Amino acid sequence: MKPDNRLGLALIITAPSGAGKSTLIKRLLAEFPTAGFSVSCTTRSPRPGERDGVDYEFVSVEEFKARIGRDHFAEWAEVHGNYYGTPKQGVLDSLASGRDVIFDIDVQGAKLLKGNLNLGRTVFILPPSRAELARRLAGRGSDSPETIARRMANARSEIAQAGWFDHLVVNDALDAAYDELRAVYLAERARPELHPGLLESILGGWTG
Ligand code: ADP
Ligand code: 5GP
Repeated sequence: MKPDNRLGLALIITAPSGAGKSTLIKRLLAEFPTAGFSVSCTTRSPRPGERDGVDYEFVSVEEFKARIGRDHFAEWAEVHGNYYGTPKQGVLDSLASGRDVIFDIDVQGAKLLKGNLNLGRTVFILPPSRAELARRLAGRGSDSPETIARRMANARSEIAQAGWFDHLVVNDALDAAYDELRAVYLAERARPELHPGLLESILGGWTG
């Protein structure tokens, strides 16, 4: 028997749009390829370079609503005028099989996952300042000025709700922020509830 039949960690990562969450998550998944990414469904259009089924599953509003009706989502929310949702079954199967799952979802989704399913540990990524967030959103060059204005307005209320998260990481210098996120990931994997039977399996062969 394996000494550690561990369960997967659900690591929920939230940030205002443009704070650098996708950049940090890509790095984490590259370093820990056994972890999976929870591919959300969305009704927004793909950005240049985004791949269907990899970054998101891109669906129509009609299809999204039909999936809500079929209880397909662990949580769903309307964010910045589009629908986003986390498919439930794949996530639960991965966690049960010991595979970690990284989530990139908004504040409402993080609250619902924790509340409804009692699932996950939460990290909020903060931009160092308002000015830097505005610079990054504009620098990404993929969103219209109206979209950027809407995202900046939402950022303030999202940051105001960050106090209940398990961890806060300020993404100022990228390497330092990544080191902190990586440390959170490794520490959270060591939580006892993810290692059922570990102590018993070590004590099983214990004599004297
Ligand atoms: P999010 O997924 O949170 O919306 P992205 O990861 O797409 O944000 O990052 C937004 C922009 O900011 C991208 O152009 C990215 O390259 C840049 N960026 C991310 N982290 C940093 C950082 N620490 N310093 C400077 N630019 C950054
Ligand atoms: P973007 O359009 O920039 O990819 O994402 C916009 C926001 O939607 C981000 O805050 C992102 O974390 C959030 N988001 C992405 N997928 C989901 C999801 O499945 N559920 C929820 N609640 N939010 C999501």
